Amino acid sequence: MSETTKLKKPRGKARLLDGKCIACGARCQSACPVNCVEMTDSGEPIILVEKCIGCLKCVKICPAAALEMAFTPEELKILQEIASQQEAGAPVDEELDDEAAALAKKLAAYHDVWVFIEQTEGVPARVSWELLGVGADLARARKSRLCAVVIGSQVEPLVSEAFAYGAEKVYLIDAPVFRYYRTHSYLEGLCLLIDRYRPEIILMGATGLGRDLAGAVATRVATGLTADCTGLAIDDKGHLMQTRPAFGGNIMATIMCDKFRPQMATVRPNVMPMAVHRPGATGEIIRESCPIREEELAVKVLKIITDSTSTESVDITGAEFIVSGGRGMMGKLNFSLLKELADELGGVVGASRSAVDAGWMPPDRQVGQTGKTVRPKIYIACGISGAIQHLVGMQDADLIIAINRDKDAPIFEVATYGIVGDLFKIIPAITARIRELKAAKAA
Ligand SMILES: Cc1cc2nc3c(=O)[nH]c(=O)nc-3n(C[C@H](O)[C@H](O)[C@H](O)COP(=O)(O)OP(=O)(O)OC[C@H]3O[C@@H](n4cnc5c(N)ncnc54)[C@H](O)[C@@H]3O)c2cc1C
Ligand code: SF4
Ligand code: SF4
Repeated sequence: MSETTKLKKPRGKARLLDGKCIACGARCQSACPVNCVEMTDSGEPIILVEKCIGCLKCVKICPAAALEMAFTPEELKILQEIASQQEAGAPVDEELDDEAAALAKKLAAYHDVWVFIEQTEGVPARVSWELLGVGADLARARKSRLCAVVIGSQVEPLVSEAFAYGAEKVYLIDAPVFRYYRTHSYLEGLCLLIDRYRPEIILMGATGLGRDLAGAVATRVATGLTADCTGLAIDDKGHLMQTRPAFGGNIMATIMCDKFRPQMATVRPNVMPMAVHRPGATGEIIRESCPIREEELAVKVLKIITDSTSTESVDITGAEFIVSGGRGMMGKLNFSLLKELADELGGVVGASRSAVDAGWMPPDRQVGQTGKTVRPKIYIACGISGAIQHLVGMQDADLIIAINRDKDAPIFEVATYGIVGDLFKIIPAITARIRELKAAKAA
């Protein structure tokens, strides 16, 4: 049996690359913890190699990639050996400086992926189950456990649902003071659990409640929070990669929180697929109580008035068929064409932001980055160009049909079927054909 010798990874010494320094103002010098960078009159660094401890700080901070680490031939040999040991699966001892060692120790105290189970008077928000799906992937990648956090009053039934959707462990705080959501009480409850059990990752729905609570918690526990993520994954160092649209949706940014824990992210409803439901699954329940009392809460809930009192209000996020209209609809009245088609399909009418801004449709119908994220079985985009801010809200539909008279419209890039032509002719023709087929079936 052969035994692998544990090798220490050499750190090397910093070296300036010829012609690369842009004399940025001595960032490398300010970053060096051992004062081994001196500056020339032209603003370029001279590395005092004998003092350099190879901490990489100057290399990381240089905006021009003008610095690199140099290794002696012996060190290069060790690096090669380490690489082959790593390929064979052996662990490698990396020498850490005091700061990095303290950070690594701090981060190692946090474990597990938590999903906050949002509920209103015991009714769960669907997004929580969607998050258990992506949470399971993250927990698998981290070789840790997927846990759910249930806070409320008489919410025990949600515990078994959380197990059914894949949680291995549920943290439960069940008390009358949590009957209605109030930032103060839920903040105390969740922070108590975080202090006691130290989760590595916390996922919450980017709903009104989730956004409010996540911001308050992240501030209290002094960590980072990435809102409205559209992608979550684990990098090769074990950190959470949180992807979301940035700069008005024109680029996708991957945000990391590599120095603080927990790593917190919110995700909008319908962005992640639902977790598989396995009724009867069980797991561990941790019951906790939180000392917060009703008298301490400044906010009192007198009456709940739900949106459903408005007859106009439609929740497009749960619809299986959505017929959406954009600026190409040319006016409010023309949306009746879409309503007729949606009615035939048993669906609802959605809209692009341009149509909403023009006052043709109410804001709750807007699909996209600043509207709703939808995942219907069929999405029919009528007179919508396909700006990235619209696409991020509907591109995960099972089937997309685009109708546009411009054959180069970007919407065709995500469409399953594209129809190039005048929507004022095409939509009535589709509606009429569906009616014919229905009538033939009924006859
Ligand atoms: C920060 C930010 C957030 C945003 N958030 C959102 C969001 O949430 N949702 C959203 O939708 N947008 C959003 N936008 C706006 C987005 O950038 C686009 O401006 C918007 O989506 C365009 O709407 P549209 O496709 O309806 O209009 P247009 O881009 O004007 O497209 C109209 C389309 O209709 C077609 N057309 C015209 N007449 C006909 C006809 N008779 N038959 C067939 N086709 C026809 C045209 O060829 C054209 O492609 C956001 C922008 C920013 C900066
Ligand atoms: S590697 Fe670290 S010690 Fe060496 S020059 Fe750069 S900052 Fe200074
Ligand atoms: S940080 Fe980079 S660009 Fe700036 S002075 Fe140092 S070597 Fe030059």
